[in-house]
Amino acid sequence: MRTSKKYSIKKSRAGLGMFAAGPIRKGELVAEYVGKLISNKEADEHGGRYLFAINSRWTIDGTTRKNIARYINHACRPNCEPEVVGHRIFIYAKRKINVGEEITYDYGKEYFDEFIQPKGCQCSYCRNKK
Ligand SMILES: [Zn+2]
Repeated sequence: MRTSKKYSIKKSRAGLGMFAAGPIRKGELVAEYVGKLISNKEADEHGGRYLFAINSRWTIDGTTRKNIARYINHACRPNCEPEVVGHRIFIYAKRKINVGEEITYDYGKEYFDEFIQPKGCQCSYCRNKK
């Protein structure tokens, strides 16, 4: 599968983020979340921010710098969504994304409660609520 490469990595409110450098169509593959396949048991022991559980047994540890998808920040009303296919994770655009828009997906409740909630969510939806 081909990755769009239509992105740039820049500073965002939540640290580095991925931004659309060209228009991205709805349904287009934005990035693959790559990394080492580890068991959920290992993931629990190691901990870390770049762990992506794919099912009840396996997790991808996306700490590697090759994993550009790790720059995609969380949003509560995201423009992308991850899709797990076997042991791989693909990030697809949920809707059309315009140039300059930050690319986001929903990290899920567990991650949100552990890492995002304590500091306050920086996504545009949450900022606008305040
Ligand atoms: Zn939010």
